[in-house]
Amino acid sequence: MALPKPISDEFLQQLARDARTHFGRGRVARYIPALAEVRPDQFGLAICYRDGRLQTAGDAHTGFSSQSISKVLALVMAMRSTDVRKLWQRVRQEPSGMAFASLVQLESENGIPRNPFVNAGALVVVDILCDAQFLVLHRMREFARALCDDPTIGYDVRVARSELDNTARNAAIGWLLKSFGNLNGRVERVLEVYCHFCALHMSCAQLARCCNFLCNGGVNATTGERLLTREQARRVNGLMLTCGLYDASGTYAAQVGLPSKSGVGGGLLAVLPGEFTVCAWSPALDSLGNSIVASWALERLVEHIGRSPLG
Ligand code: GLU
Repeated sequence: MALPKPISDEFLQQLARDARTHFGRGRVARYIPALAEVRPDQFGLAICYRDGRLQTAGDAHTGFSSQSISKVLALVMAMRSTDVRKLWQRVRQEPSGMAFASLVQLESENGIPRNPFVNAGALVVVDILCDAQFLVLHRMREFARALCDDPTIGYDVRVARSELDNTARNAAIGWLLKSFGNLNGRVERVLEVYCHFCALHMSCAQLARCCNFLCNGGVNATTGERLLTREQARRVNGLMLTCGLYDASGTYAAQVGLPSKSGVGGGLLAVLPGEFTVCAWSPALDSLGNSIVASWALERLVEHIGRSPLG
C-alpha cells in the first residue's frame, strides 16, 4: 500500500492559529481539582503517519492528563494479556448513550458495563489487568514508554491523588460492580490503579505516536512489533467510533467519522486507518466532557483531507 501523503504544513499551522479564536468557549474539568488549574488557552495537534513520520502544530509537545484516552491503552493491554472471550463476557461492546460515569445501565443490566470506554467498563478492564499481572502500574507505564520509544512518560501523581480524593462516583460504580460479582479485586485497589492510568501525563506527539499501531493494522511503525492482530485493531477502532465520546459518540461519528477517544484532560485521539493516528488537545470541555476546540480541529482536518473511513 502506498504511503500516505503528508498534510500540508501550512494548513496545520493555520489550523493552530485559527484554534486560538475559539478559546473562551467551554470550561476545563473541575470535578478533579488538579485539572481545574490547567490553562484553557492551549491547543496542540500531532499526526503520526502509518510509517512513523510525525507532524505537529501548536502546543503538540506540551504534556497533559490523558484521562480517558488511557482506557484505549488499558483495553489493548487486556486484549494482549488475557483471555478475550472472558473479557467480552464481563464488558459489552455497545454504545451507552449515557454520561461516562453513569450508574443507570449498570443497575438495570446486571452489572455488565456497556463498553470498555465508559468508567464502569474501564474499571472492569483494570480489574482484569490487576488479576492477570503483578506490578500493573509499572507495566502500563513501560507499555506506553515502549510504544513511543520515550522513557520520559510517567504518571502525574498529583492528578491521580486529586482524583482519588474525589472519587465518590467511581467508587459507587466499583461497589455496584462488586455487588454484581463483576469485580474480583479490592475496590480501593482497582480505583487506585484506574486513577493512575487516567493520570498518564503525555503530549499530543506522544499519544499519536503511542497509538500509531491503530492506523497500521496493529503493528507499531517505529519498532515493527505487532501489538494486535488486524482483527483486534479493527475491533478497537470500531469501539472508538461507536463509544469513544460517550453520549456524543453518534453525533461526532456522523460529523467527523474517525474512530476517536476523548478524555476530560481535553485530549482527543483519532485514527484514519491505513493513514495516520492524530491527537488534538485543548483543555476546555463541552457539557458532555469532550474538548470543544479539539473536536472542532478534527472536523476541520477531515474536511481538509476530504475523506474518512465512512467515505
Ligand atoms: N478519570 C476520569 C473519570 O473517571 C476519566 C473521565 C474522562 O476522561 O472522560 O472521571
